[in-house]
Amino acid sequence: MATQDDLKRILQRIDGRGYKAYKEIVGRPSDSRYTFPTFTLYIDYVQGDPFAAPSRLRVRVPQTQAQYPAVLFSNDSRRIGLESYLAAAFGQACHAAAGRSGSGKSGLIEIDAPGQEMMERTAVTITPEFVEARFVVGLPAQGRRVLGRQAAIMLTETVPQLVEAALFYRNGRADLMQRYAHTNEDADALRQQLTARGLVAFVADGSMLPRRSGVDNRPLDRATAVPFQSPPSLRVTLQTPNGGAVSGMGIPLGVTLIVGGGFHGKSTLLNALEQGIYNHRPGDGREQVVSDPSAVKIRAEDGRRVAGVNISPFINQLPFGQDTAVFSSDNASGSTSQAANIIEALELGASALLIDEDTAATNFMIRDQRMQALIAKDKEPITPFIDKVRQLYDEKGVSSILVIGGSGDYFDVADRVIALDSYVPQDVTAAAQAIAAQHKQERQREGGAHFGEITPRIPLPRSIDPSKGRRDVSVKTRGLRTVQFGTETIDLSAVAQLVDDSQTRALAAALVYAWERYMDGERPLAAITQLVMQDISQRGLDVLSRYPVGDFAAIRPFEFAAALNRLRTLQIR
Ligand code: ADP
Ligand code: MG
Repeated sequence: MATQDDLKRILQRIDGRGYKAYKEIVGRPSDSRYTFPTFTLYIDYVQGDPFAAPSRLRVRVPQTQAQYPAVLFSNDSRRIGLESYLAAAFGQACHAAAGRSGSGKSGLIEIDAPGQEMMERTAVTITPEFVEARFVVGLPAQGRRVLGRQAAIMLTETVPQLVEAALFYRNGRADLMQRYAHTNEDADALRQQLTARGLVAFVADGSMLPRRSGVDNRPLDRATAVPFQSPPSLRVTLQTPNGGAVSGMGIPLGVTLIVGGGFHGKSTLLNALEQGIYNHRPGDGREQVVSDPSAVKIRAEDGRRVAGVNISPFINQLPFGQDTAVFSSDNASGSTSQAANIIEALELGASALLIDEDTAATNFMIRDQRMQALIAKDKEPITPFIDKVRQLYDEKGVSSILVIGGSGDYFDVADRVIALDSYVPQDVTAAAQAIAAQHKQERQREGGAHFGEITPRIPLPRSIDPSKGRRDVSVKTRGLRTVQFGTETIDLSAVAQLVDDSQTRALAAALVYAWERYMDGERPLAAITQLVMQDISQRGLDVLSRYPVGDFAAIRPFEFAAALNRLRTLQIR
């Protein structure tokens, strides 16, 4: 097997040659491995020129060298916490070591470090045998000439320093590693208790929910943030393996309203619940805010594509006889898009819907008595959510948490009402029910006695084409919100629970994976999604790629389906 010295010799030899000479360090797959004294370096991919996507490398350190105590990764929860710490630490070490000089990406060293969330990702893997980090390197060049000596320094000096600093247990912060592992384990434990306790979500007392800004999801400064405090009537106490008993607000199953004046923190609370499907790193403020993993944020999304969704529970008799049992549109309205978003979430097994009036279509949410008097039901295709929200829970067991500051009509259908007053929640259920009894509303219930059918949809594989030009599969992502799928662009801007660019990359790969393996024109979307998720959970995110990729992160069935549902060519049988 080739060694560190072999690598150094090749790099020095190709100094000054054309950039393609770098390909010599990969050779055949079995040759792209170099043994160093304390680890193995893998060169998985070498970039074609200094401006292209950087080269992909991996280091694998045996536990005989790395020496992580087994208790830090003794179950998946702890392991993911520790891996999050290690990816962050490796990222910091890269930041300190990278010296950009030369053309294009020369000198770059980067790992896909996590944001505020702790979730499964491919950047760092720890097992009883080894710890592995995957990162990218910009192989240095002057113009398009190989800077071989500089490359030799990067790969045979800087990389070993990074490994030494960030991947050896003895050089890391043992206290922080434990905190990451324990925090992640405790969050998983809290989430696991929700169902047995009849809860949809839990927000621990003392949590810090507000974020620094609309584009920065780190916590708001502790000096200005008001810590979360549960109303006494909703306070529950849950157990954690490391932090002991934790008390806070439990949001029970059923229909919950969040009310209160504008700017009193309603959306901030709902956002925290939306993100409670993820665990958060120590110091985030939301470490002990957890939601049911199948809770789905719903919003209006006018302009989106809809493919063959049965939205008839909400919408019937559109003008000109458009069919709503198999509804398709290239340009859905606010209300039809919101209806489609709900039905698609139910099709995939959502347990709870989270809706904020800020991003909902008003005519989808309410239709009051006066409007009923003016516009007869046979002229209004929409059955408002207020007439469906109870059926959803009573018939299908699907809870709703709704931010509704503007309509007291909802008091009649709510199991509880939480009011925010200067960011402090209060249980105002009794007061809201008294008001509902006193001011009887005269509006008519609409939409029938039952919720209606959720119709499974079968995607047609020939409506999905990842090819572009001469390439059979050309699928790329741009940031968090955009997947370039063949010649089509998938817009994920309204998919609120997608938080990390690496999830988007995994989603894009998963679409191709599902199309190649599981879409046969017979299987319904939910079954396809389940098969993909099963493969990922059994064999890891690596199943989505032919070569090891260091920048994938975990995805849920809902976001996978959301991406497919927004592909504008999608057709349904
Ligand atoms: P609403 O939806 O009720 O109109 P928001 O949730 O949008 O209100 O919050 C209004 C503002 O208050 C936001 O800038 C938010 O960051 C801030 N905020 C929310 N909760 C807190 C809190 N607990 N402490 C301090 N500021 C907060
Ligand atoms: Mg709001």
